[in-house]
Amino acid sequence: IALPTNLFKDRENAPGIDLSNPEAWENIAQNTDDFASKPRSLFFYPKPKGKQVKVFSPANPEECLGEVPFPPEEDIENMLSLTASYAEEWDRLPVEQRAEKVKKLAKEIWENRDELLYLLCAEAGKTVPSALSEIREAIDFCNYYAKETTRLFAHPHLLPGPRGEENKLHYHGCGLWVCISPWNFPLSIFIGQIVAALLSGNVVAAKPAEETPLIATAAINLAYKAGIPREVLSLILGDGQSGKIMINHPLVRGVAFTGSTKTAKNIALYLSQKEGPIVPFIAETGGINCMVVDATAAIERAVKDILVSAFDNAGQRCSSLRLLLVQKEISDSILDLLSDATQSLIVGDPRFSETDVGPIIRKSLLEELQKFSCFFETQGRLLAKAPMGKTASSNGFFFAPQLFEIPSVDLVNQEIFGPILPVVRYSRNDLSYRLKEIHQKGFGLTMGLQTRLESLTQKLCFSAPVGNFYVNRSMIGAVVESQPFGGEGLSGTGPKAGGPNYLLRFVRERTCTINT
Ligand code: GLU
Repeated sequence: IALPTNLFKDRENAPGIDLSNPEAWENIAQNTDDFASKPRSLFFYPKPKGKQVKVFSPANPEECLGEVPFPPEEDIENMLSLTASYAEEWDRLPVEQRAEKVKKLAKEIWENRDELLYLLCAEAGKTVPSALSEIREAIDFCNYYAKETTRLFAHPHLLPGPRGEENKLHYHGCGLWVCISPWNFPLSIFIGQIVAALLSGNVVAAKPAEETPLIATAAINLAYKAGIPREVLSLILGDGQSGKIMINHPLVRGVAFTGSTKTAKNIALYLSQKEGPIVPFIAETGGINCMVVDATAAIERAVKDILVSAFDNAGQRCSSLRLLLVQKEISDSILDLLSDATQSLIVGDPRFSETDVGPIIRKSLLEELQKFSCFFETQGRLLAKAPMGKTASSNGFFFAPQLFEIPSVDLVNQEIFGPILPVVRYSRNDLSYRLKEIHQKGFGLTMGLQTRLESLTQKLCFSAPVGNFYVNRSMIGAVVESQPFGGEGLSGTGPKAGGPNYLLRFVRERTCTINT
């Protein structure tokens, strides 16, 4: 199919680093040493009081990376009130000026990539290629939303006036948005939510995950450096309790959240019980994402795509593959190759070039994974397990990727956020039923299909109740502007991040009818 070339005309791709060049790795190692030995000079606005919390690396929990303040309740409330008081001023700023600041932020992110790369590896446990992709995604979010905001909001939308009046649809910010972001994309999702809300004319109070406050603080400092006024963007570090205080603040006019389904439901509940206006809520959560490999699939490609989908980022992506369905006729070949491939993965310190799989973010998640592993071992059969690499320190939160064969999809009833992949073999006539069973669990984020049957592709493309459907490729790593990302049902409220309808959910619409 020939795609119209003008689709890509004004697409700006984030720069990159050629990681096939050994010199690039030497530079990264040098920078890592430099940044690790330098104390972080963090800037906070306004200067918070409150308890200081130490941040440790998941690859080596004895390595303290820095210290940050978690402000007390009273300070959180004051910071939100102060930020909200600048809402009108910021909303009045011409859209193009807001967009310029966000494009400047994109540049700052790239110029400061060394420090961000270091922090993403050390604080979030990302491998270097994953950290680099995340930096590029953050830049893409800034540039894409800046472009979109100008297209959508720079001028009011002119509407027909059949009786001679002038009808215009204007877009305004809603006021104060609270943005709550996860530790698994501590830069790109954090920045994506913030710039979407700011560009749409809102002021923002952002709370990053409690596991990744250093990356968030570094990013906010870059935003200030890029000219985004401190008054319109405040950073609130803290745990779930701080998030609750923020959501319950009376001046909140919107909430964007990425994280677990349970927390999303709690937020919806708090918002519904609040006095005052109905608050718009955007949630992106997880999924029990499956991939179907039918008997016509190209085996080597399927194995490679399964491996990446299940184990990249140590399975700590909302989009990761959580349940593999393989058609019986092809299953032995797939599972043999997949077992070998799993055993060849290198688990270890994410900063080294040979590492494929870094650590799990925290101890409690590691323990949960160990429980799931025992459960699948008793209910099914362990097919393969990656060995621990020599850089995986014994006190780090490392969990070797594991592949299990299980008898039924009934055994997977919740999202298992890590590198565990259960596999079910199916017969051709069972596929619809198996899929129905999976989709009845209520999640709808990503789904993968490996097939050469055009009819199956078309059928599932129409009917699979998921936000992102991937055929003959991995099912992770949605690209901003090309693959808008987000799910349905228990996986989120929509709209899709990095897509054309995202910003529209951050604005208030006002129709002005003037009888001239
Ligand atoms: N956008 C990411 C992807 O496509 C996943 C984001 C998430 O884990 O929340 O893989």
